[in-house]
Parts: sequence; C-alpha cells; structure tokens
Amino acid sequence: MNFYTRPVPNRQIRKLLCANRGEIAIRVFRAATELGIRTVAIFSREDRVHLHRYKADEAYLVGAGKSPVAAYLDIDGIIEIAKQNHVDAIHPGYGFLSERADFARACEKNGIRFVGPSAEVIEVLGDKTRARALAIEAGVPVVPGTDGPVASFEAAEAFVTEHGLPVIIKAAMGGGGRGMRVVREASELAEAFERAQSEAEAAFGDGTVFIERYVDRPRHIEVQILADGSGEVIHLFERDCSVQRRHQKVVETAPAVHLDEGVREALTRDAVTLARRCGYRNAGTVEFLVDGQNRHYFIEVNPRIQVEHTVTEQVTLVDLVQTQIRVAGGATLAELGLRQDAIETRGFAIQCRVTTEDPLASFQPDTGRIEAYRSASGMGIRIDGGSGYAGAKVSPHYDSLLAKVTAHALTFEGAAAKLHRAMAEFRIRGVKTNIPFLQNVLRHDTFVGGDARTDFIDTTPELFQ
Ligand code: ADP
Repeated sequence: MNFYTRPVPNRQIRKLLCANRGEIAIRVFRAATELGIRTVAIFSREDRVHLHRYKADEAYLVGAGKSPVAAYLDIDGIIEIAKQNHVDAIHPGYGFLSERADFARACEKNGIRFVGPSAEVIEVLGDKTRARALAIEAGVPVVPGTDGPVASFEAAEAFVTEHGLPVIIKAAMGGGGRGMRVVREASELAEAFERAQSEAEAAFGDGTVFIERYVDRPRHIEVQILADGSGEVIHLFERDCSVQRRHQKVVETAPAVHLDEGVREALTRDAVTLARRCGYRNAGTVEFLVDGQNRHYFIEVNPRIQVEHTVTEQVTLVDLVQTQIRVAGGATLAELGLRQDAIETRGFAIQCRVTTEDPLASFQPDTGRIEAYRSASGMGIRIDGGSGYAGAKVSPHYDSLLAKVTAHALTFEGAAAKLHRAMAEFRIRGVKTNIPFLQNVLRHDTFVGGDARTDFIDTTPELFQ
C-alpha cells in the first residue's frame, strides 16, 4: 500500500460548508480541517447551541422563520450564506439535501463545487425505476420486477399473477426504509397498492410506485465505490447491513462475514460497471440483496456518503470523506494513490447506531435533556457523535441518532465483543436509548455466527428482553 505519499493540492477548495447537522457535519469538518480547508457550519434556530456549530471555523443561522427541518432544506438560504462568505464547496452529508438534484444544480450554477455526483446522475439514481433500467442495460441482475412504474391496480395484479407472492410495492422516489409495503396475500394487494401510492405522494411528493418480487430472507450487501469523474472507478469492498428494523439499518459490518468469494467478486464488479455506465463521480454505494442460493440482485444506488461509511474506513484505512473533498477539488484517484490493487481490507469492523429510542416501547423516540453522559473508549473503538453530552437537549424534530460506535478487530467475533464491551461502558441518563437492545444483538448467536439476514430482528423476540 502506498497512500498519500505525495501531498496532493486542493486546487480549488479553500473553504467548505457542510449543509447538514449533528455527527455527519462534525465528521465533514474534521476531514476538511485535516486537509487545511476552512469550515463553515449552518444551524437552525432549534440547533443554536448544538455542538456541530462550534466544531466549524464559522457558523451561520439558516432558515430563520422556517421549521427545524425546513431550515436545513432552505436551498436559497444556504447558497446565499455560501456566496456571502466565499465558500468554494458544499458537502451535503446524508439525508436533507444530499440527494436533491436541484441543490447540486444550484451549487453548480453559483460556481460552488458540490461534493457529490452531477445533478443529472443524482436525478437518474433518485428514481429507483430508472436506476433499475440502468442496471438492466448494464447487464447487472435486478430483482424480478415491473419494467417501470405501475400505474393501475390491474397492472399490479398482472405482475402478481405472473410472478406469484410475496411482492414488495416500492415508491420510485423512496428512501430511508420508507415507502415500501410487503404483500403476502392476494386479498391485501388492492389496499396495499392504493396505500403505497398515497403514502409515496405524501412522503416524497410523487406517488409513483413499482413492484418487485419479495426476496426470501436475503442479506443486504452493499459496495462502496469511489470515482473521480475521469472514468476511473474503484470499489472499497462491501458492507453487510442485514441487521435492520423496518427496512432501516441498525448494525453494519465490513467486510461481510462468510461471503462466498465468487459472490464478492460479482458484487464488486457489478457495482463498478454500474458506476462507470452512469458517469458516476465521487463516493457512492451500490446496494444489493443476496439470497440463500448466493444469487445477487441490485436494488439501488445511494449517491452520497452513508451513515455506515465508518466500517469501510476502519478496514481499508481510506478516509472516505477526505477523498470525497479531494475528488471534488479536482484530484484524480491515481493522484491520491487510490488504485484498485492498492485497496485491501484488514480485520472486521462493526458499527452500531445508538439512538434515543426506547426498545421496550416499539422504539419510540425519547426526548428531553441528557442529565449524564459517559462515552466509551479503548483499543479499536471509534465514536462519531455530536448530539450526546451532559446538558444537551434531544430535539423531537431531528433524527434520533446519538452516536455511531464502531469497533475494529482482527476477527468478527473480536469486533462484536469489543463493541459489546463499549456499549456497556456507556452511561446515559435523562433519555432512554437502544443500548440494551444493541447489546442483545451483539451477543446473539445468529449475529456472532455471521448468519443474520434481513428478518433477524423481526424473528428474534429475545432481542427485546
Ligand atoms: P430505501 O431506499 O428506503 O433504503 P431499499 O430499496 O434500499 O430502500 O431497501 C431497503 C431494505 O428493504 C433492504 O435492505 C431490504 O431489507 C428490503 N427490501 C427492499 N427490496 C426488497 C425485495 N425486493 N425483497 C426483499 N427485501 C427487500
């Protein structure tokens, strides 16, 4: 390995704004600071004493008069702050504006570099039906599904008649585990179809849905890619995100345990093919399902940094956020020493998401003031936080993520034991957290044996004890 032996100048970026809050804003500021780039935070009124604003060199109130969430979606307000303060680049983090083509376009139009792919690519990938079509064109296997949007109940019925049950109805513009409905009985189809459409319309402003066969107990395996826009695309191997609740990831691992080497090769090859095919630039994730017969199916591409990027960083030692910024600044992967044959993984990393949710009350978010907060540390433990400290107020308006805790060890069992130990070191008073639940996951035989599939949480009631 021979990374970063020569300093690579950031040709354009001197000042970077992160259009986000919480842990990911802090993660971005850390990466930029290490590159000698000045950092700019934005904060809503609700977040006026939130930690992320103090971790940047400069901080500005955004979206005055708007709701706590709308403030971070205020494209005009953010661009105005960037222009007034001579910002060269904007990193969108995840969530909020990170997958909005209009935001990427607004940045480009105003001469500000958007740390991500082009607006056109975001637009194509943001629509799951178009992303599927792209995969099919590129010869990448997809879950058997409809060729495009399904507009009528009759078309939905025709798909079920041909392919059988169960099926999953998905919002074309959906994300974050929302806008999906599994149908197991023919009698449920009509209502599920109607509901899926109206939910998609309400949540994403677009009621377009499509249908896929529901894959039986798959693993969710995703491939991290990096591209520099010159056509060069590499992968940084895979993450296993099968431990999910309501189709949302809870615990993530890199690399995937007991993954057949042939499947690993096929997944990474297909991910790179797809990224090349759409002219991808910057960091991205290509998501797949892998079934019990080791068949893999593309499901979607996330054109941004992901919550679980930490596990890939721990096992490859590549700083993904720094790489994102450097690529946005015009560096090629070759200049950064990031050649495919230089990327290898060492050991296993596992991340869990500590949230202010009560596992005994169907994971309802808890809010209030944190009275006491003691974090974990020790060999092989990485904490990415920002919302957790004594005196902090947990707002009902934002995501309930308190800290991401990542353990790295030579073996998977070792990493699980380390993470379990770290969870036990946490002391949080004043708000409920999911820590006891995470501990149950981390010591469960199915998880430790590397056998968790996407139905693990739903079919394992003892995790809730
Ligand atoms: P989102 O964009 O909301 O994250 P995804 O399409 O990435 O949605 O799917 C999220 C999760 O939903 C997957 O990891 C998997 O657990 C489940 N899922 C999605 N599509 C299927 C399918 N066809 N069969 C079985 N499970 C699926």
